[in-house]
This record gives sequence, C-alpha cells and structure tokens, in this order.
Amino acid sequence: MDKEMEKMTWKEKLGLNVRAFSIWYREQPMLFVSEALYSLLDTMLPYITLYFSAQLLNELAGARRREVLMQKIGLLITVEAVMLLCRAIVLRWKNVVSDGTCLQFYGRKRHFDKLLSMDFSDTEEPKTQTLQTEVQQSAMWRRQGLCRIYYQYQDLLEALFRLLGGIALSVSLFRLPVRADAGWLTALNHPFCILLLALLLCGVTLLAPWLETVGKKCWIWCEDDLKQGNRYFRFFGSLMSEERRALDVRLYGQERFFDQLAPIEDDFGVHSRIARYARGRMGIASAASSAVSRIFVGLIYLFVCLKAWGGAFGVGSVTQYIGAFTAMSGGLAGLFECIGDAGINAFYLRQEFSFLDIPNRMYQGTLTVEKRSDKNYEVEFRNVSFCYPNMETYALRNVSLKFKVGERLALVGQNGSGKTTFIKLLCRLYDPTEGEILLNGIDIRKYDYQEYMSVFSVVFQDFRLLAYSVGQNIAASAAYDREKARSCCQKAGFWERVETMPEGLDTILYKNLSEDGVEISGGEEQKLAIARAMYRDSAFLILDEPTAALDPMAEYEIYTRLNEIVEDRTAIYISHRLSSCRFCDEIIVFHDGCMVQQGTHEALLAQEGKYSELWNAQAQYYVADATP
Ligand code: ADP
Repeated sequence: MDKEMEKMTWKEKLGLNVRAFSIWYREQPMLFVSEALYSLLDTMLPYITLYFSAQLLNELAGARRREVLMQKIGLLITVEAVMLLCRAIVLRWKNVVSDGTCLQFYGRKRHFDKLLSMDFSDTEEPKTQTLQTEVQQSAMWRRQGLCRIYYQYQDLLEALFRLLGGIALSVSLFRLPVRADAGWLTALNHPFCILLLALLLCGVTLLAPWLETVGKKCWIWCEDDLKQGNRYFRFFGSLMSEERRALDVRLYGQERFFDQLAPIEDDFGVHSRIARYARGRMGIASAASSAVSRIFVGLIYLFVCLKAWGGAFGVGSVTQYIGAFTAMSGGLAGLFECIGDAGINAFYLRQEFSFLDIPNRMYQGTLTVEKRSDKNYEVEFRNVSFCYPNMETYALRNVSLKFKVGERLALVGQNGSGKTTFIKLLCRLYDPTEGEILLNGIDIRKYDYQEYMSVFSVVFQDFRLLAYSVGQNIAASAAYDREKARSCCQKAGFWERVETMPEGLDTILYKNLSEDGVEISGGEEQKLAIARAMYRDSAFLILDEPTAALDPMAEYEIYTRLNEIVEDRTAIYISHRLSSCRFCDEIIVFHDGCMVQQGTHEALLAQEGKYSELWNAQAQYYVADATP
C-alpha cells in the first residue's frame, strides 16, 4: 500500500482532494461558508486580546497615562464584545446549517445510493464487495476518505488564519531595532539574524509535520491487519445485534467464536504490528516532532527577550511577539500537517472513488412502457441463455416461452435448476447472455428501467419489511390510500390481524424505531408482503415461494384466495411444493437450467418425466395431496 502511495504524484493527490472537496461543497455549500467565517472569528479573537494586552502592559510599564489606559481598555472591551457577539451569531448559523449534516450518514448514504444504482451483477462481484467493505471501514474506523474532507477543511482554515494573524502581529518584531548603545545585542539588528530565524522557522515547520507524517504512515502499513480485525468486529457486531440471529447465538453460544477466532490479539494487541510501531518508529517520530517544535519555541523566547533587553520594545510587546510567533509557527506546522494529511487521505480517496466510479455497463433504454388499464402486457423469452459473470457453466439454456395475459404460471424444479435466475432475467437484474426477452414485442433493454419494473410486483423469499406502520409498509410510501391498503390486506388474509393491532393500519412494526412497535410472525410478514405486492397494481405478480413461512392452514387459505389475490394479473409462482402449483394454468419444469416440460398438472402427471418424478417423491410425504 505504501508503494502504491509513493507512486502517486502530488498532482494526482491534489486532484483527488479537490474533487472530494467539490463534492462536499456542492452538497453543503452554506456549511463551508459558515465554517470559514466562524474559523476566522474564532482564530482572530485570541490575537485581539494579545494585541491589546501588550498595549496595556506597555503603557503600564511606561508613561502610565490614565486617559490612554482608559481609552485602550474601552477599545479592548468594545472590539472583544463585538467579535464575541459575531462569533456567537455565526456559530448559531453554522449549527443550523449543519444540523442535518451527519458526515458519517452522508458518507454511508452515498455508498448505498451507489450500490442501488450500479448494475446488479456488479453488486454480486466479490471485487465490488471487498472494495465496498474497505471503503466503509476506512470511513468508520479511520475517518478517512470523503468524510475526512470536512475535518481537513476545518484544520486548514485554522492553520491559515493562525498563520496570517501571527504574521500580522509579529512583523514589527523585525522592524524595531535594538538601541545603538545596547552593546553586543545590536547584533540582533543584523539582517543575518532575521534570516537565521526565518530559516529556523521554515526548517522546524517542515520537520515537525514531516515527522508526524512518518509516524502516521505506519497506519497505512498495518492496513491489511487492521482491515481483517475490523472485519471481525463488524461481523460479530452484527451477529450480536441482529434480532433474527439472537436465538441461534444464544442456543449455540456463537459469541464464543469471537474470543476464539477473532484475530484481535494479533491485529490490535500488545504484540500486533501497530503496537510494535507505536513503541518504535511511530512513537519516536511523534516525540521527535513535539521536541523540535518545543526547541524552536525556546529559541523564539530567547530572541524576543534579548531584543526587549536591548530596548527594541517594551515588556508588553514581549508577550505579543512570543504569543504571535508561537501561533504563527503552530499555523505553519498545521498547514504542512494538512498537506501531509491530504496526501495520506488521497490514497483512501482513490479507493473510494474507484468504488463510486464503477461504471454501469448495462444498456439503459429510454422507451416508456405503454400504460394499459387492461393489464394486457405480453412477455416473451426468445431462445434465452444465461451464464453468470465469471462462471463457466450456463445457469439457463435456450429458454423460449410466452406468457399469456391473465395466466397463472408455475415454475418448478429442484434447487439450482434455474428458477430464480429466470426471474432475475425477467426483472432485468441481468441481461441474457444469448437470446432476448420481449415486452409487447420490444426488447426489454430498450425500456427505461424504472418504467419497465413498474409492470412487475415481486414477493422474494428474503423480502424485508421496514419498521414503519403497517399501511406504509403495504404502500411502500409514507402517504397512501387507506381504503386500497385495507382491501389488499383483506385479500392477503391479513386484515383480521390488523384489526387486533392497537392502531390498525397505523400500528408501527417492530421495535427498531418505536417502543410500541408490534412484532409479527414470519407467516404474517409473508401475508403483508403479498399485500404490498398487490398494492402496486402491476400487471405481473411474481411470487417466489410465497407460502414457505406459512403454516398449512395459512397456506391453504392463501391458495383458496389465489384468484382473489391475483385478480386479472398474470401470476408467476416459484414453489417447491408441487401440490400448491396444481391450481396453475401452466406448469414449467426446469432441470439443469433447461425447460424440460410444460403443461397442466394433469397433462404433466400423465407423462413420464421430471414432473411426475418430483410429484411422486413428494407424494410420499403429502399423502393427502398426492391424488391428482
Ligand atoms: P433455483 O432458483 O432453481 O434454485 P438458481 O436460479 O438460483 O436455481 O440457480 C441456477 C444455477 O445458477 C445454480 O447452479 C446456481 O449455483 C447458479 N447461480 C445462482 N446464482 C448465482 C450467482 N449469483 N453467481 C453464480 N452462479 C449462480
């Protein structure tokens, strides 16, 4: 990683930082403006105090004129009061504009948006998943990448204003000469002295942050160890907190794996690489950086005190120059530290941008789908074959099929026979490797994707409901048609349960967002998911194992309601239970990625083939169902 970083030019590092900054600035312009103003006022305040204190001390140690003293005190109070007031106003403004700005949240949202918008096949790529994990870990654990930009900006502003304020207050230190009768101290008036001090200032300013950066680089060298350790933290963190896993974890004591298997000691413990660096190179570099800065401050003290001793200025100015010079060197060091930080962060930014820049290769059509109130849409698979990316064997081969409008179609077959792949192609999560899929005679690639998807409602096996109200879950929206939601619930057989809930359709599900949230069983969740699919009013209803989580009574109920649920839609079921498919108009049997049989239950059972083989195998367990 270090080699990769060393190969990066400063031009590239700068480019990455500028791009990251402009992304943030576009999203939150006022936050950056208010931050700049706040930083200016906040950094300048101590300088104002320093300047006026020096003036007062000089007057007290010199002429001690009462009216001058009163005037200066009055000015100090007025200027400070105005500045404090302005700072408080700007702070309020900054807080208001930054209220909704949780940087971590924005960062994660950006990653989720990217995941949602990229080609589905890319989300399944191990390379993408690794990259996404790395990017999220850098942001969460190290605050590196795009989320760092705001903190860098704050540091940069502070350093710049400190530097400028320091320069403004220390210029006269070099202009005011030591008195001619001050003996050897007049040597301090020599330009060489000033040059030496300037060189020292530059040297220390470069050396101290360089040493800091040398120390910080150790984090990058340990990145792989830390990544692995953090992966374990994340995995076990979700393991312990996921409700769905709670029973498993308790029953099998899975939390013990964390102590036994997580490489915490190796990656973070006292013998880990990062701990060795902390004791060695990183610790020494950090200590040396502080020592260099302190020595420099000592030299400044000496120079200023000697000049005051030689009569160049009063005792009050000593505090001003020492304060200003120390702040100036701090500002300069901060500036170089920012540059070093930006250089290190460029590495993480490149990683993050390589994730955010993953291109969409799937053709995005623009055709709108004709809205038909009669739901008269026709889908055709024409000689479709499909091979998953990086796989050698085809998951689907030469599938040709036309769905007749209003039909109930069942896809059956053993695990791995290609049923889900068929649905994924139909929903255009992937494009066929060969052949084409047509909607009303037009290749589905030519349609606008969102428009095309509006034709389908899918209940996937691993669907998820959200911790919002029942009604909002059904409508998948905050505002919804209550009457329609109620009717969908009734058809899905969930209305009786809703009526027992404290707030009916407004009852919040789960306890994630509300303590009064209601927990529902797996079967009830499935009915709700079916109601959600019905609410969409689409022409096709796809049900992937729709009754898997239902008890036999509930399953029977769903199947007797099937006609009511499907209405005039074209329905496609995937089911392992052949007994539930016999109500369908047409059954398609998949085997090893091929469509091996097609027909009604009775016709297929009359044939020798995969269907009767599967039916007879299941009939042993479903004796009651086995009668055709
Ligand atoms: P079914 O739904 O009938 O159980 P699938 O359509 O899920 O079958 O799987 C068909 C074949 O494709 C199987 O051999 C499976 O291993 C493979 N497969 C499924 N998903 C992927 C994937 N994302 N990447 C690679 N191969 C996959």
